[in-house]
Order: sequence, then structure tokens, then C-alpha cells
Amino acid sequence: MIALSLSEIAAIVGGQTYDIPDPAAQVTGSVVYDSRQVEPGSLFAAFAGEHVDGHDYAERAVAAGAVAVLATRPVGVPALVVPDVTAALGALARTVVERLGATVVALTGSAGKTSTKDLIAQLLQRKGPTVWPAGNLNNEIGLPVTALRATEETQHLVLEMGARGVGHIRYLTELTPPRIGLVLNVGTAHIGEFGGREQIAQAKGELVEALPPAEEGGVAVLNADDPLVRAMASRTKARVTLFGESPEAVVRAENVRLTENGQPSFSLHTPTGCSDVTMRLYGEHHVSNALAAAAVAHELGMPVHEIAAALSEAGTLSRWRMEVTERPDGVTIVNDAYNANPESMRAALRALAAMGEAARAKGGRTWAVLGLMAELGDEALAEHDAVGRLAVRLNVGKLVAVGGREASWLQLGAYNEGSWGEESVHVSDAQAAIDLLRSELRPGDVVLVKASRSVGLERVAQALLENT
Ligand code: ATP
Ligand code: MG
Repeated sequence: MIALSLSEIAAIVGGQTYDIPDPAAQVTGSVVYDSRQVEPGSLFAAFAGEHVDGHDYAERAVAAGAVAVLATRPVGVPALVVPDVTAALGALARTVVERLGATVVALTGSAGKTSTKDLIAQLLQRKGPTVWPAGNLNNEIGLPVTALRATEETQHLVLEMGARGVGHIRYLTELTPPRIGLVLNVGTAHIGEFGGREQIAQAKGELVEALPPAEEGGVAVLNADDPLVRAMASRTKARVTLFGESPEAVVRAENVRLTENGQPSFSLHTPTGCSDVTMRLYGEHHVSNALAAAAVAHELGMPVHEIAAALSEAGTLSRWRMEVTERPDGVTIVNDAYNANPESMRAALRALAAMGEAARAKGGRTWAVLGLMAELGDEALAEHDAVGRLAVRLNVGKLVAVGGREASWLQLGAYNEGSWGEESVHVSDAQAAIDLLRSELRPGDVVLVKASRSVGLERVAQALLENT
């Protein structure tokens, strides 16, 4: 973060100072809320969680080098006391970002935010110093904490904005006003909480409403292939740039295919020309993510051959998202257990199917180890049934559905589709899946592991990787 004295910070956040011997002492490091991450110069933000209260760690944080603690009550060590630590972090981020010259790029969407954020970061880093969140810091705490890592050198600040309801993204855009706003897609993620796709579109579109007008450099980067995203063009004063496979897209992919490894390959068209891309990432859903990242890089002046080279080299920066690992015995584990929704399930199954063709040539089989897709509301039964059926139609070969009721719907979908689906299995928990797979897997097999976050299915992937 840029160096700020405790008295400056107190003024920005409207905090009372307690036990502060030297108000001119400067915070020079980052803001952290885990006392184990404190480094000399940090500001420690104390949150009261369900199980742990950060205030109990204030002393430890200061002993580890924190200059002060941002807290809701005096804690016996240097503290800035505010009524609401989240709001204070927001106010601090807002002031700091205003003072910096960095271009703020914000993105939202139902699926692919973190993956696309990582792609954008890998592209923009080639142009200049770039700050982006590690992992999934996309809410009212993670976003300001990320923004506060920016310094005078930072040229690009890339921020993921998540929404669980109307008004959330508007709040985030007020903390770190973006000049470039990207909307990836409107899917069914969290549809149970929102009430429907239209409401999701309403919430995601708050990002483009917050952009500055075209004359002031505002750019809305929108997915031409998603009608609900495209319609957001009417909600912004910013200039609109479309990406996608549709002919109207300014940043466009042609000749899209999956290599036999399941890696997307396409020719990238931007107004600066055309160049071929073969990605290191797995799954056709990354084509859309790559085009989105390319459109942002294009808007920031990157020529097509540089974008294509960077996309072809880009790797995953966030774990459990199509993480492909080959065991010494030739079994390949595809860990996509970070999360799941119907769109990403379909994309992952198609990637698995593509990998399966190569596997079969070597005598291997493909396994889809799938669990519940959460928060689908009334659509849950139909969506799980459809995913089970799709696994059969794509000829995945083996389906292991893990968990309770929703898993049984996955298995029934596969069963009712017929063919090998009739042999798909349903097991009650991760351990049962691990036991089954340990006895069944043989060299050349490819195993996809995927479910919603709450299932914690990465356990299966990890267990299969450990024990060889
Ligand atoms: P969250 O809402 O949890 O922050 P996110 O939008 O950041 O999710 P990612 O973490 O990038 O999304 O990916 C989540 C899941 O969606 C992964 O399983 C990934 O394989 C899949 N996915 C990534 N991009 C897309 C896409 N464009 N369309 C559909 N699924 C995608
Ligand atoms: Mg995310």
C-alpha cells in the first residue's frame, strides 16, 4: 500500500485512536486480517467472525510488526477504533485508489471471474506493474484489501466483483471506480438467492452503469454471445466493446476446437489483426474467458500477436480449477472441485470427453466424479438430471455421483439416458468415492472431480494424488 501515517488513516476512516504513541508512524505494508500474515509495516484488520474474533489476535499482530489494529473496540495495543471495520476498509481503499494513477479493470459474471481475472493479470503484467487478487477475493472485504496492495508504481488494478444480490456490485464500484468494466456471462449461479436470471442480469449490470462515459475513457467489455450481457449495452454511457464468437464481436475467436488434450485452440481476431492461440488451460469455457481478457488487453493498447502469445502461455493461478495432474502410474486427475454450476459442469464434461478420446487410444477410460450443484432453487432436479444425461451423451464412460439427494438425481439422469449410464454409480460420501476409485483406477484413466464448493470434493482429488 502507499505509505500513510496512522493519523492520516484515522482521518480517512473516521477512527478514534487508542494507545498510539506515535500518530506519525506509517503503515507501509499491506492490510491483513489473518495475524499469521502480518509483516512489519502492516495494518491488521480485526473482524469478529462466527468462530474466531480477530480482536483476540491484536496483540499477536502488533508483536509480529503490525503498526496498528483497525478494530471496533480498544484492544490494549495501538488501535484505530471504528464502528464498522468493513466500511473503514472500503473508505481507505477508495481514498487510496483515487490518489493512485492506476487503471482499474473490474469484472463480474456468473462463472469464470477468477479464471478470467488470472488471465487478464497475466496479459497486463506484460505491459506494466499489475495488482490482482490472489484466489477469490471478490467481496466487500477482499476487494478493498486487494486494492490497498496497489502502490505508486501500479499501472493496472484488476478486481473481481462478486454479487449475491442487487446493490452489491454497485457498492463495490463505489469503493474502486473502474474505468474498464467486463461482464462475462449471466448463468444460474446463486439463482436460488437471486430469484431468477433477470435479477442476476440486473445485479451484474450495475458494473456497467458505474462506468464513466465514453468521453472520459469508460469502456464496457461485454460478451456478444450472451444475450443478457449484450443487452447491458443500453445501461451504460461507456463505449461498448463486444467479445465472443458472434460475427459482431470486435474481439473474436474463429476456428475454435479442442486439442486432443482438451486444450482450446483458435484464431484470435482483434482490430489490430489475427493470431493463433493454443491454450495451456483445459476446457472450451476458457475460450470465452480468453476472449474477454483479450478484449481488455486490446483496450489497453496491446497488439494481437502479444495477446495471443500471452494467452498461449497463461497458466492457472488459482487452485482447484481444472488442475490437471498426471500420476507416476499414468492416471490423470482433473481437479475442478473449486465449484460447480450447470454451465461449468457442461464445460468440464466436454473437456473430459475430449481428453477421453486420447485416453481411449491408450486403453484408458474417463471417469466423471460429480457432486451437487448448489443454490439452483426449483431448477435443481432438472439441472442435475440434465448433467447426468449429458455425461452419457458425451460418452464419458464412467459416472460416480457423490453425496445425497442431488447426487442421486445425477445418477438417475445418467441411468435413464441408457447405454453405459445404466452402470453409473451413486456413493454417499467422498470416502466411499475414494475407496471405489482406488480399487478401480488403472493406468491411462482420466478422472474429473467436480461439485459445488460446499461438497469439498477436492478431498477426492487430493487422496487420489497422494496415494500412488
Ligand atoms: P465464484 O463465483 O466462486 O467466484 P468465478 O466466477 O470466479 O466463481 P471461477 O472460479 O473462475 O469462477 O470458475 C468456477 C467454475 O466455473 C470452475 O469450475 C470453472 O471450470 C468454471 N468456469 C470457468 N469459466 C467458465 C465459463 N466462462 N463458463 C462456464 N464455466 C466456467
Ligand atoms: Mg471467483
